[in-house]
Amino acid sequence: MSDEGAAVVAAVAAVADRIEAERSHLTDLDSAIGDADHGGNMARGWAAAAEAVAEMQDPEPEAVVKTAGKTLLSEVGGASGPLYGGSLAFASPTLADGVTAETAVDFAETYLEKVQDRGDARVGDKTMVDALVPAVHTFKKSVEVDDLTPVEALAKAVAAAERGVDFTVPLRASKGRASYLGWRSVGHQDPGATSTLYIMEELLAVATEHLDAPEQLPEDAESPTVPDGEVTED
Ligand code: ADP
Ligand code: MG
Repeated sequence: MSDEGAAVVAAVAAVADRIEAERSHLTDLDSAIGDADHGGNMARGWAAAAEAVAEMQDPEPEAVVKTAGKTLLSEVGGASGPLYGGSLAFASPTLADGVTAETAVDFAETYLEKVQDRGDARVGDKTMVDALVPAVHTFKKSVEVDDLTPVEALAKAVAAAERGVDFTVPLRASKGRASYLGWRSVGHQDPGATSTLYIMEELLAVATEHLDAPEQLPEDAESPTVPDGEVTED
């Protein structure tokens, strides 16, 4: 199994555990402005996805993400099944050459594009898009403009998603089931934005563990002896 493949399998398992732990919280959020199935939907889907990817022989990142997405698509009903599952499967080919800062940005952008393509939601509609848009834009800028490492960029993206989740509270929903409530949706946190944040927090935890950032010497350091193998490309 490639290290990257193993890391992606570990990420799916970590997400499944976290979603299971947050199941009743997600259900509570969805009972306030929806039909109280988001926790159950997501927990069932991610548990099945974790099981499916754990059984893969010699998994590579693209295949793991595709399998997870297709499993979510078939196991999770409602709005979130096609949005999460379909978009993961659709974006998986961006990881054909593995997980690097560049392919991760491509993956994030392709995933967001598909969510918006399928759901037609914009920022401010009180959906998962309110967490995703700032997260993906922050991730891209952190990698491409600020030259941060993937883990640092992901940490910034998680912080942006967290602000996005808070931003959903005062909004009136205009997409999905919550939109049926009109003004009564105001004052409640969006369940899909919340589960998106949890997933990203787990990706960050797994990335931190698996992507060992090379030790950086302070720029003004007296260039001491650098042991062989400590300097890596980029
Ligand atoms: P359902 O609303 O069908 O019961 P879930 O409860 O599993 O599905 O998921 C609800 C979440 O799905 C919402 O909190 C919201 O974040 C997300 N959602 C709903 N409709 C859309 C949409 N059109 N675009 C993006 N996200 C959406
Ligand atoms: Mg629901």
